[in-house]
Formats: sequence, structure tokens, C-alpha cells
Amino acid sequence: MIRIDFLGTGNAFTPFGRLHALTLIDEKILIDTPPTLITQLRRKGMKTSDIEHLLFTHWHADHTFGFPFFMLERKYISDPMLEHDLKIYLRPGGKEKLSNLCNVGFPGSLEEIGDMADWYEEENFELPGTNWKFERFPVCHTPETDPHGYELTHKSGIKILHCGDSGPCIEIENRAKNADIVILEMGMPDIGDFPYHYTPSDVVEFSKKFPESLVLVTHNYASSKKISKGFQTPNLPKEIYQLEDGDAVEVNQNGEIKIIKNG
Ligand SMILES: [Zn+2]
Ligand SMILES: [Zn+2]
Repeated sequence: MIRIDFLGTGNAFTPFGRLHALTLIDEKILIDTPPTLITQLRRKGMKTSDIEHLLFTHWHADHTFGFPFFMLERKYISDPMLEHDLKIYLRPGGKEKLSNLCNVGFPGSLEEIGDMADWYEEENFELPGTNWKFERFPVCHTPETDPHGYELTHKSGIKILHCGDSGPCIEIENRAKNADIVILEMGMPDIGDFPYHYTPSDVVEFSKKFPESLVLVTHNYASSKKISKGFQTPNLPKEIYQLEDGDAVEVNQNGEIKIIKNG
């Protein structure tokens, strides 16, 4: 059984009814650390020491500014004796960026974060203690953020493409052919040309090209479906599923995919 929880589904502006996009796999693999990460884990009844693997996509604040809180909670609350392994996967130079962030946020309290985790810059990795391996690949987003996505392959053969933040991107399309589930951001509405984000019409075009893949939309610019303020959730074809905070996806032993809606 595979389980993917969506602890947040909003873009950087946290639209009404959404926290920042945050994906949790099998309750131990976390992709990115948005600012309200601790709140998001708590809603799921979790603590930071439950997380064994932390994967970073790029250096925008809505994906990283929760890191000092993550390490602080781990050090002082849920793992003070450092009994739980933490493995962090990131691009070269990332460890320094995250260390600086911790020193700015909690000076004097997190000086040893380098030793609180094992740090890996490899582009391919088999995650120990899980049934997953990943390949990291470059995507089309603000170049200064060194943007990447992750192709995650389960031992059963199920493939998930987590695209990070990206506009339409040949690297994503090349990998989508073989993916069972594509987690695609939709950071901007159809009000202009945005090379660094998918818009609703980009997502529709993408889904038409890959009818075999389940397209899950996150990092949504629009408010939750339940709220009438702000940008309204666009109407998209039914084969595209716009996630809400708290939704989850399960894949059983036969490879059948089920979406579990929150409320
Ligand atoms: Zn973002
Ligand atoms: Zn971004």
C-alpha cells in the first residue's frame, strides 16, 4: 500500500482555505518545508521525528522557510537525544542555505544542524527503510532557485512524478509518459504568459497529452472549492483532480489508485 497525503495545496500566496503545498509519502517522506510545516504536521497528528527523509525541490521561501521550525521542534521536543535518523536530499549548496536560514531564525539554538542529519546531494537515490527510490530532474522555474522535481519509483513499479514548481517543461513531459501519478503545480491563473508556472489551460493541455496518468493539481493559485472569496477554482475536465488540503491518495497492491477526499 502506498499513501500520499497532501498537507497543503496552495501557492506562495496561501489562497483562502489552503496552506502552502506540502506532500507527505507513506508518513515518512516529506517534500519541502513550507513556513507552516509544523501546523500542517500537527493537523495530521505527527511530529517532525516521524519524518525520515526530507527532499527539497528549490529555494523559494514557500518551500523552505519552515526548515528552522522543523529542526527546532526535532531538537527540543520530538527527538532531543537524536535517536531518529534524518536524511536530507538537496542540490549542492543547499546545506549552507538551510544552515544560514536556521542561524537567522533561531540564532544560537541550531548551530549543530549539520550533525543532526545526513545530507545527500546525489541526483539518484534509494531511500533506506522505504520501498522508494528517486531521480531528481531539472524543471522550468525561476532559475535563481535551482528548481528540480522528483521522479519517485516504488518497488511495485508505481511511479509518481512530483514536479516541484515549474512551468510547462520538456523534462516533465518526457517522464510523464511512464508516470502513474503526476503531481503538477498550477501556480497562476490564465491571465498572462507564465513560463515558470502552469496555468489551468497548460494543465488541460498536459492532461490531454498523458491520458494514462492521473494528474493531481496542487500549489493552486485559486481558493479552496468551499470558499467563495479570492480566485475561484477553475472548472477543469474530470480526469484532472484539483487537490484540497487534507486530501490523500492510496494505491493498493493491485496498483489501483483511490483518492480520499477530506470532508
Ligand atoms: Zn512555490
Ligand atoms: Zn517556486
